[in-house]
Amino acid sequence: MSDGAQSAIVRMPDGTVKQVGPLTGTRVWTVPGRAHRPLAAPRDDPRRLAPGEERRLCAFCTDRYLETTPEKARLVGPDFRELRRVPADEVDDTVAEFRRFGNLFEIVSAEYWRENHGFRQPASIIEWARDYLSNPVGRAHLEKLAAIRAAASGTISSLEEATLDLLGGSHDVIVARRHVADGAERDDELVSSGALTPDEHGAYVAFTVAALADIQAAQPHAAYVSVFQNWLRPAGASFEHLHKQLVAIDEHGPQTDRELRMLAGDHLLYQHRIIDLSVDEGLVVAANDGAVAVAGVGHRYPAFEVFSTARENLPQDHSPAGVRAVSDLVHALHAVTGVHVPTNEEWHYRPPEAPWPMPWRVVLKWRISNPAGFEGGTKVYVNTIDPWELRRRAVADLQELRRRGVIAPGIRVGDEVTADDTRLRYSEGIDSE
Ligand SMILES: [Zn+2]
Repeated sequence: MSDGAQSAIVRMPDGTVKQVGPLTGTRVWTVPGRAHRPLAAPRDDPRRLAPGEERRLCAFCTDRYLETTPEKARLVGPDFRELRRVPADEVDDTVAEFRRFGNLFEIVSAEYWRENHGFRQPASIIEWARDYLSNPVGRAHLEKLAAIRAAASGTISSLEEATLDLLGGSHDVIVARRHVADGAERDDELVSSGALTPDEHGAYVAFTVAALADIQAAQPHAAYVSVFQNWLRPAGASFEHLHKQLVAIDEHGPQTDRELRMLAGDHLLYQHRIIDLSVDEGLVVAANDGAVAVAGVGHRYPAFEVFSTARENLPQDHSPAGVRAVSDLVHALHAVTGVHVPTNEEWHYRPPEAPWPMPWRVVLKWRISNPAGFEGGTKVYVNTIDPWELRRRAVADLQELRRRGVIAPGIRVGDEVTADDTRLRYSEGIDSE
């Protein structure tokens, strides 16, 4: 930090912690005396489940496969074998540990790509649509979905057109099997990312990475594919059933533009501004062979940042072990977070056309406060937990979770993290060229 610039994080004499986001410039204050409030109360109206109800609580549940759009892929069995494009009359033949399908109500629609970019569906999608419609169960499935979409949008299209949009869209959902824990008796026994086993979470993340590569390859007009997970309604989720989303967009947005401008002057931006700051300020939470997690500075909400330490930039360029390393730390932090805390998980990585190297990183935000008038008027955000307190809690909880054996092996916690663990290698490829 140059002389005269405001420090990224500073504690005032009264205990107030002032932060400035190193990449965003966002100003955040944590005022003393609010950090020990409980994070989130379990739901106050839990309901007893009737037998079998745990499999049909929402449209993402296993007894309601045909309430979502035709399935692009699913993972089955203990080894998470992938099945692609399961026909409508075979969806109940196996149980999907994870499944991927197009969002019925897209943020960026198939029409958007067609009308604004002249995108036409490739032969493989046209063929899949023909096959799906030739099956009576498939046809009935699509007739129902097309009617729901037509009612929501107010526009009528032919069944064939609607089918192409539903099969060939670029906004996908990835859904986990369980809505509530196996054997749950109440509807608040939800399964969050942290309630998965490390292996399940590893399959979930690898499946999402593969979907990201698929969507990038299938949508040539996409500049970026946004990957995120909203957990619980205060964080924007419409169902309390674990799922991630991937949305192709034709620009990568102003924050990435800002980071690319900063990267032009310093290829090691993320090392210098985030990781070195975290080491200096004692904010490193954990690491393994392939990723490092820190308590983030300058976020509107308490936030962990997990960085891949690999040389690769795009998630899909990582080795399976590199993907798993990121998954294991993200999973462990979700386990620390607990089931009843609303969260956003956001993935960041180098847009394929970007001129500078960027690391793959995953940000996990605790949506435990609601910015309001003070924030709107001042653009100073009040965050109830400062990064030091967030790190202290996470380190203590990770040690306990490790003792109980519920997080992946190979995670170094708190002061066990080594100097080598905190070296990002994302720019080594380009700097040696
Ligand atoms: Zn469900």
